[in-house]
Amino acid sequence: MTTREYDIIIVGGGLLGCATAYQLAKRKAGNILLLEANEIASQASARAACLLTRARTKPALMELVQETYDCIAEIEQLLGESLELQQCGSVTIASSEASLKEVEALEAAAGRFGIPNERISRERTKELLPWMEVSAVDVALYMPTDAFIDSALLCSGYARAARALGVELRSGCKVKRIVAEGDAVTGVELADGTVLHAPLVVNAAGSWANLLMRPLQVGLPFTPVRSHFWITGIDKERFPVNHPFTVIPDARAFTRSDVGALIIGLRESQCQSFDPSTLTDKLEDFDFNQAAKWQVLDEGAPLLKRYLPDIDDLGIAHYMAGPSCYVPDAKFIIGPVKRYSGLYTVTGCCGGGVAAGGGMGRLAAELMLHEEPFVDPALFVPERFGEVDPFSAEFQKRCADARSNKKGG
Ligand SMILES: Cc1cc2nc3c(=O)[nH]c(=O)nc-3n(C[C@H](O)[C@H](O)[C@H](O)COP(=O)(O)OP(=O)(O)OC[C@H]3O[C@@H](n4cnc5c(N)ncnc54)[C@H](O)[C@@H]3O)c2cc1C
Repeated sequence: MTTREYDIIIVGGGLLGCATAYQLAKRKAGNILLLEANEIASQASARAACLLTRARTKPALMELVQETYDCIAEIEQLLGESLELQQCGSVTIASSEASLKEVEALEAAAGRFGIPNERISRERTKELLPWMEVSAVDVALYMPTDAFIDSALLCSGYARAARALGVELRSGCKVKRIVAEGDAVTGVELADGTVLHAPLVVNAAGSWANLLMRPLQVGLPFTPVRSHFWITGIDKERFPVNHPFTVIPDARAFTRSDVGALIIGLRESQCQSFDPSTLTDKLEDFDFNQAAKWQVLDEGAPLLKRYLPDIDDLGIAHYMAGPSCYVPDAKFIIGPVKRYSGLYTVTGCCGGGVAAGGGMGRLAAELMLHEEPFVDPALFVPERFGEVDPFSAEFQKRCADARSNKKGG
């Protein structure tokens, strides 16, 4: 059995583990090891729609997202290469009293945070979104500085920046268990029996995080739910490259340009959750109940038809499904796990790990290093629901309900 000493071991090489590694390394937090069972940036972080929506109404979320934008600029400078941020802008559409209220709240939030935003006419909306039937649009709110980014490239950017700052990255290296003595974690045991010691261990294992917590009798308050989108065939005139992404609350939908095709995201009224104990090691081996993809499209398409009248006739070239980790209050899980000293987690992405990952990693790093946190950590405390059993159907339903009918970006 080999034993090596680290100051911090991070489990999981997705956006949240890699962003945390980068933020810790930036703060010169010592000898850091990141362990990834598969390839870095290969799981949920390779399946996202990649929207980096800036204006939000949830507390602290705008700060967390801004930190991601700041990280992108820093990493590009550090690595001397572009992460290919696409500043396409966004348009949020209101066609009802309820969604108008949401737009007003977004406008107010954007105004407070200094995010450029303007209401635009139907004519301007048509110019920006040639595919949109603008007679259905009551109010269109344009935010020109919103962007999207390839989530796998962003994730590998965090990882490579962390490595440039001294973090050791190991892929193809599955952690069998987090090791604890009494009420303190002491390291991890790998699948081959090797034990690696560290006084601080970060569980950033995404959808799998509760499988590592279970033997420690800790339940993190989330469950994996299915997120998904469809990609049309290419039609560069109607779907110009890098035209603004849209958020359409009245259709529970978002759209994004994809090299001349249109990505269409639809949220179902009852979203599908998964028992974490059924997860396979790799998502490509997991059945996301793809058979339901047409059913969900059938449920969502009538709502989107007002804005995209020929949706029934559009060729669908691809379907992408993956897990998002949902929490009953739709807020992240970041910070120390009280039951064990030295055990931290950064997970519960609630479908926002691309946009907020840089900030989530920063908060996790600040808490681990006892620095002044830049946002209120009380919002994200792992124990805020008391004891939960993430393997129970009842708790999984609570989490799924938080995701069902999601309307925002
Ligand atoms: C269809 C879809 C669309 C999305 N769209 C957006 C969007 O537009 N904007 C946005 O902000 N977010 C979006 N998301 C969410 C985003 O993808 C996630 O928030 C993000 O990828 C979560 O990162 P993660 O690091 O928690 O998970 P992952 O990327 O899954 O990383 C966890 C890692 O832990 C590893 N691991 C697990 N167990 C172990 C172990 N025992 N030992 C070692 N390693 C282990 C896994 O192999 C995995 O690589 C979307 C997600 C999906 C599925």
